[in-house]
Amino acid sequence: MEDNKTPPLIEVGAEDLPVYCPGPRTPRWSAHPRVFIDVTHGEARCAYCGTRYRLRADTTPLKL
Ligand SMILES: [Zn+2]
Repeated sequence: MEDNKTPPLIEVGAEDLPVYCPGPRTPRWSAHPRVFIDVTHGEARCAYCGTRYRLRADTTPLKL
């Protein structure tokens, strides 16, 4: 089993924006009401499940 005390870290790119959780790559166990994640500052954590999302270093954030 994975250590569930360590939230998963999902790297996202421009094609994944806007990022929301749970998303296509979120494990089924972490299902909860969908929330949008603001990763424009580099990294953000989902308030519900703790999954961390990080913008890939080679991604230029777009102004939405
Ligand atoms: Zn979440």
